[in-house]
Amino acid sequence: MDHYKALIQQQHAFFATGQMKAVALRREALIRLRDSIRRHERAITDALKADLNKSEFEAYATEIGIVLSEIRFVLKHLRAWARPEKAKTPLTHIGSRSAIYSEPYGVVLIIAPWNFPFQLALMPLIGAIAAGNCAVIKPSELTPRTSAVIARIIGETFFDVYIAVAEGGAETSRALLRESVDYVFFTGSPPVGRLIMEAAARRLIPVTLELGGKSPCIVHKDANLKLAAKRIVWGKFMNAGQTCIAPDYLYVHYSVKTLLIEQLKLAIGELYGIDPLNNASYTRIVNDKHFDRLLALLNEGEGHVSIGGASDRDSLRIEPTVLAGIQEDDAIMKDEIFGPILPVLEYGDLDEALAFVNSRPKPLALYIFSENKAVQQQALTGASFGGGCVNDTVFHFTSPHLPFGGVGSSGMGAYHGHSGFKLFSHRKSVLKMTTLFDLPFRYPHLKHALKRV
Ligand code: NAD
Repeated sequence: MDHYKALIQQQHAFFATGQMKAVALRREALIRLRDSIRRHERAITDALKADLNKSEFEAYATEIGIVLSEIRFVLKHLRAWARPEKAKTPLTHIGSRSAIYSEPYGVVLIIAPWNFPFQLALMPLIGAIAAGNCAVIKPSELTPRTSAVIARIIGETFFDVYIAVAEGGAETSRALLRESVDYVFFTGSPPVGRLIMEAAARRLIPVTLELGGKSPCIVHKDANLKLAAKRIVWGKFMNAGQTCIAPDYLYVHYSVKTLLIEQLKLAIGELYGIDPLNNASYTRIVNDKHFDRLLALLNEGEGHVSIGGASDRDSLRIEPTVLAGIQEDDAIMKDEIFGPILPVLEYGDLDEALAFVNSRPKPLALYIFSENKAVQQQALTGASFGGGCVNDTVFHFTSPHLPFGGVGSSGMGAYHGHSGFKLFSHRKSVLKMTTLFDLPFRYPHLKHALKRV
């Protein structure tokens, strides 16, 4: 692992040259990254197909396209973000001016998961580059083709001393965490997030943790059920439910449950066809272990299968499945499902549903479907969650104006757009004082000082 020690030392040496303080060079780096991604678009799409059977449409819409539009957004605003930001000065500080300088941390380590293996490795990199850092990306070993394409793109575009890729599994992360990196950006599961934070605490370096959890989707009795069903099916079953902000479970007002399930069935048929297992565009489960974990949840026999339920071990695919009649203490309500199984619970009183949400670890997302502003407000203010949508699912992730991140056990820190730039910058507060005069108030009074002696 001396290789990583040398790599990080070389990155520190490059950082110390101060070259990337020039905003023009950071923009140049982002332009080169954008062009390289465009050149490798076919290879990225093929890798995502091989690793997860992602369709071309999903590969572009949820991975390549998101990264390209983030680069576009950052390029447009970077010059303005990088300028020192003026701050107010109180009257007590008369004679001075205040500003906040954004300075890069140094060497950033980005550890990425497998579910959106391209996007979740590259989106943080954009913020890290914009803020002027060097970076090492550790992609997920569970999606090896995508990991190899990321290594190729970065290797062809940048010198290792500036941006590098370290391929491998947990051992590789651990080896890198032992080196003198200045910041860790981790996306993955809460248990591993805890280990990352422990490692960072030992070296007293900041971390961002983008974790997961069980994100509730509440459907109130006055919701537009047809539209709700379509947007829930879209958010839940894209990537076969292997999405950190997918609705994990539905909490539906009992009076509309049957109607909603009918609409879910129609929407699944519309989006995936009557036989999703034979739909070539339907994403597969990442590996046997996760396939077995999901089948075990189905085999618990909790509730009853209202839609789907079939699976195919050869292609590692599980139909979009809706389980009705689930109770709050069922096994499927324990951990994040991270697959195409949607449990449905019923509520009568929204306060009770929110009390249940609040009794659990804070989710990464929450979705509320209702036509009533008071009900929407009740859900938005009645529970703590990373971020979410009213009358939609997942879509908040794609706005560069909305910071994306979790709270509590779903994570800490937020990125995307300006938030990404700020996240990877130390915000240095500076007060510039005049030398034209010197007001005496803050100094100890000489007379009093003499009396005390
Ligand atoms: P994971 O925690 O198993 O792995 C994530 C990364 O950490 C991988 O690169 C892996 O190699 C590395 N890793 C694994 N064990 C490690 C260890 N002991 N020490 C150091 N590094 C280690 O997560 P995953 O299975 O790849 O991803 C699924 C999880 O990620 C889900 O919980 C999901 O909700 C979450 N997620 C969150 C977001 C977000 O933006 N908040 C996005 C996607 C996924």
